Amino acid sequence: MGAIAEKGKESSILSSTQDVIQQALGKLGYEEGMFELLKEPVRMLTVRIPVRMDDGTVKVFTGYRAQHNDAVGPTKGGVRFHPEVTADEVKALSLWMTLKCGIVNIPYGGGKGGIVCDPRTMSFPEIERLSRGYVRAISQIVGPSKDIPAPDVFTNSQIMAWMVDEYSRIREFDSPGFITGKPIVLGGSHGRETATAMGVTICIEEAAKLKQLDLREATVIIQGFGNAGGYLAKILSDRGAKIIGISDAYGALYDETGLDIEYLLDRRDSFGTVTTLFKNTITNEELLEKKCDILVPAAIANQITEANAREIKASIIVEAANGPTTTEATNILTERGVLIVPDVLASSGGVTVSYFEWVQNNLGYYWSEEEVSEKLRSKIVEAFHQVVETATRYNVDPRLAAYMVGVRKTAEASRFRGWI
Ligand code: GLU
Repeated sequence: MGAIAEKGKESSILSSTQDVIQQALGKLGYEEGMFELLKEPVRMLTVRIPVRMDDGTVKVFTGYRAQHNDAVGPTKGGVRFHPEVTADEVKALSLWMTLKCGIVNIPYGGGKGGIVCDPRTMSFPEIERLSRGYVRAISQIVGPSKDIPAPDVFTNSQIMAWMVDEYSRIREFDSPGFITGKPIVLGGSHGRETATAMGVTICIEEAAKLKQLDLREATVIIQGFGNAGGYLAKILSDRGAKIIGISDAYGALYDETGLDIEYLLDRRDSFGTVTTLFKNTITNEELLEKKCDILVPAAIANQITEANAREIKASIIVEAANGPTTTEATNILTERGVLIVPDVLASSGGVTVSYFEWVQNNLGYYWSEEEVSEKLRSKIVEAFHQVVETATRYNVDPRLAAYMVGVRKTAEASRFRGWI
């Protein structure tokens, strides 16, 4: 995520998420009342954050924090800084976080935050003042056992550091468990930075096994070269896969003999842009239709639609971005025998290692990189097979299966608590 602005974002992101949750609850045998409870966040806070800009003027930003459901435990999810953030998007993404946490079986409900801003045009001190202002504005409803933020689109460990510092000042004691994705010296976890890409990699490995594809002979195209896409390209090429295509917001690079990923990562700017340095580029649309074994949309929503689904040549699609494949396209591809690893499963590595970070903060005892990566692997492998088994048992596509696995725990916990 992050390399490409989320333009063309559907206002229907909330309603399409709700549709699949409704279907999932129906398949699991829940009555309509459960959907009524889970179709919206239980809490949604909108805040206005005044920030003194470097030129002396004051600009007022809008921020959100959505808490979907806390029956299982505190809510959890990232904060994105983006000019096109909307209330509906933040709400929908909080529902997604419930699904992700359910899929990897960690004791959280979903949360999500966002600020309408463009950090690409702001100075560091302005971003710091905005981050601290956001924490002051939401401090009443967040906390290590209430709601735990984390990085998301255009936010990073430095921003988490400012936020945890602000929160600890407000509470007057050190509270590392308030936020995850922190720098290691402030209680961050080994493996958090690469966790999303590692989660995607593990899904790719498991999907390749199912399709009897040797990863060392596989060709891979990755759309997006930001945090997830960039690390993913590196990890996969280190493991011997041939990366034949990558892209950013401005275009794509394609070479069927394989791209030099180290070189491209070296030249990439901090927002994941690299293709502007080259003359022989193709478009993002053209890239998706190129021949390859594994296609990883790791950029923005709605990239594979009814219009191009029949042109996709890959036999495995692993969704590292949020919602890259539309419902119509999912149906076409599933019918054609393409294996789709859905976003809520493929992108759950980040929150999984966030959970490990929070556990370590609560224990005050820190794990080695190997321990974290072993624990991550076992969570994702188990989640992957649960989704595949559910798809087979209920004869549903992997997306619906993932939603069923994801929503079940929250629905059960809500029922046990007597809420429904
Ligand atoms: N923003 C990431 C996600 O959407 C990570 C959330 C977290 O670590 O809490 O999954």
